[in-house]
Amino acid sequence: MRIAILALQGAFAEHAVMLDRLGADHFEIRQRRDLERSFDGRILPGGESTTMRKLLTDLDLLEPLHRRIQAGLPAFGTCAGLILLAKAVEGGAPCFATMDIAVKRNAYGRQLGSFYTEADCKGVGTIPMTFIRAPYIEAVFGNAESLAEVDGNIVAARQGNQLVTAFHPELNENEAVHRYFLDMVKG
Ligand code: GLN
Repeated sequence: MRIAILALQGAFAEHAVMLDRLGADHFEIRQRRDLERSFDGRILPGGESTTMRKLLTDLDLLEPLHRRIQAGLPAFGTCAGLILLAKAVEGGAPCFATMDIAVKRNAYGRQLGSFYTEADCKGVGTIPMTFIRAPYIEAVFGNAESLAEVDGNIVAARQGNQLVTAFHPELNENEAVHRYFLDMVKG
């Protein structure tokens, strides 16, 4: 099993560290020819979703990656990565638009948007959650299912082979969310 990590911008290196700890093979996607390698799942990291959307378009990565998600290739999006997968984006524009979720960017305010908490995530357990200028999910519809809530807002969801978190599981020591994703890829 090999995981591709989108490495155009943002917190991609931290995901690689997590995958190393779990013994999962991985490589970075930086340009179109990286897609020639085979992979079984893909991680979209946190960062700045507008910048990532522009780079994905400019580097001609958007269309081939979109095709793979639609074909069922497992995808895990954290924070900005969540925004890239959402069908509706308040305060931004949709990118892959493959997930039945409506998200609000910078939902906690630009300055006060960073905080830490612990909460239950369905199928994963109680886990640390670090939020950095995070979005939250205003609504799940269609085939998406909420997995976690903090203060009444949805912060994790799953739809088939797509998993998203508004927080950054790669920034804490707890590997449970990554393990959950790897199990999804294996399944
Ligand atoms: N605020 C960023 C955005 O809207 C997301 C922040 C993050 O990924 N930590 O793209």
